[in-house]
Amino acid sequence: MRLFDTHCHLNDNAYLPDLPEVVKRAEAAGVERMLVVGYDLASSRMAVELADEYPQLYAAVGIHPHNAVAFTAEDLTALEQMLTHKKVVALGEIGLDYHYDHSPRKTQQAVFRQLLALADKLGKPVVIHAREAHADLLAILKAGAATYQGVMHCYSGSRELTREYAKLNFYFSVAGPVTFANARRLPEVIKEIPAERLLIETDAPYLTPHPYRGRRNEPAYVALVAKRLAEILGSTPEEVAEQTWQNAHACFGLETLV
Ligand SMILES: [Zn+2]
Ligand SMILES: [Zn+2]
Repeated sequence: MRLFDTHCHLNDNAYLPDLPEVVKRAEAAGVERMLVVGYDLASSRMAVELADEYPQLYAAVGIHPHNAVAFTAEDLTALEQMLTHKKVVALGEIGLDYHYDHSPRKTQQAVFRQLLALADKLGKPVVIHAREAHADLLAILKAGAATYQGVMHCYSGSRELTREYAKLNFYFSVAGPVTFANARRLPEVIKEIPAERLLIETDAPYLTPHPYRGRRNEPAYVALVAKRLAEILGSTPEEVAEQTWQNAHACFGLETLV
């Protein structure tokens, strides 16, 4: 069984003490590829460095909506430069987060639009973070002339939203919360996701799956997400692993490396 964790933050300080061991445990669990996702300029640079260092790591570079308020024109240039690197396969994470409102909503929207335009210019997929902001996010995506390819990460939208994003050819990445006992609505939503659009992730160090909830998350645990998805979809963890592995390669343009 081979697994692709399409969203983790191995560039987070949480892994400074033991990153080589974390990667080794991922390998032992069958996690052969991981996408390390940036959330500001420094973490994006770090993601690129890690992708350079470890063959099984790829990078996404971007500005989390929390950090939109600090975004500058120089940052846009720096991201564009990083996106020319061959292991930088996506622009993200980017998006809108109205739960915390760490940056003003208008600023989040303006930065999101600029970053979508950059993705369009470079023909790169986007990794989208959306929290309590789906109406505005959909409106921005639909207003763009381009057909953005990308991922809704840590997805937990409604069935209606799933159909909307599927129409835009988006992928849906499911994370640890699907293993929580209180995730009652999520199984119905997951059944709505087209099989060829399904991805899995950890969002490590956050959102640790059951039964390790409360501990630091790490890519090895993406196997628990695959296992729970198999229960929901009436298939096997091996089938979920293979389908999401293939989907991840299609989404990030890695088909030729399979
Ligand atoms: Zn996120
Ligand atoms: Zn994230």
